[in-house]
Amino acid sequence: MGLSKEQIARYSRQLILPEVGPSGQERLLGASALIVGAGGLGSVAALYLAAAGVGTIGIVDRESVELSNLHRQILHATRDVGRPKTTSAQIRLSSLNSEIRVKALQVSLGPQNVADLLAPYDVILDGSDNFPTRYLVNDACVLANKILVHAGVVRFEGQLLTIIPRQSACFRCVFPEPPLPGAIPACQAAGVLGSCAGVIGSLMAHEALKVLLGIGEPLGNRLLVFDGKTSRFREVLVRRDLGCGVCGQIPTIHDLIRSADPCSGLLPSDSVAPGTEVVFTDVTNAPSTSHYG
Ligand SMILES: [Zn+2]
Repeated sequence: MGLSKEQIARYSRQLILPEVGPSGQERLLGASALIVGAGGLGSVAALYLAAAGVGTIGIVDRESVELSNLHRQILHATRDVGRPKTTSAQIRLSSLNSEIRVKALQVSLGPQNVADLLAPYDVILDGSDNFPTRYLVNDACVLANKILVHAGVVRFEGQLLTIIPRQSACFRCVFPEPPLPGAIPACQAAGVLGSCAGVIGSLMAHEALKVLLGIGEPLGNRLLVFDGKTSRFREVLVRRDLGCGVCGQIPTIHDLIRSADPCSGLLPSDSVAPGTEVVFTDVTNAPSTSHYG
């Protein structure tokens, strides 16, 4: 199809990357990404995907903008308070890049609609804030063979994992059991620094762009953990569990069901399934022993 003069100007700084080039840009313009949650993570991821020229971006969120969202959910402005998040997301993303299509999906994502919602998209980004949705999106992506970029953030800590169905560990391989209700603090109760959501949200977009462009190495089998207090990243090596209920050799999950557990937040990275190990990306700061065993 070829790029227009305006497209060449808009995307020039990424077009000159040999890994992108005109063919990569055309690939992005023809690609689609679904973002689950227009919150702190989804806001940032959506902005970068729109700016990069991902041709179709779907945003699922049923909530409206509240004043307490604005310190981290940078898709939304003060004037958007009370508006559906999908509406303000659509306005903001379209003003950033009017040549992409933004689909506002103001629905409650559940077992009855998740498969249909993600079916048209090339890559899924889960920035949701609760465990039932995370397990549901994970299971739906594995069953539909869709690459999923999973992330979470609370207080000063963030986590990120890219899931390539039946090739790398899925969320359920890493955290087989949902936490007990009330065991994990949510952002609402525990707080979160907006910039931490920004760090992890940017990485979500980065992973999705890599996947869509087919460049580099996706963050599969490596749970990336960000400690916002020390600004240090570490990786927890995880592996696919052949006994996993959804991606294992004899899966027990064939239908999508919503767990009854409503709690949200982050599962601690030291609660990953047995057989994992920790690798510190900055080896000069690595302790001699790890409490991750
Ligand atoms: Zn699995």
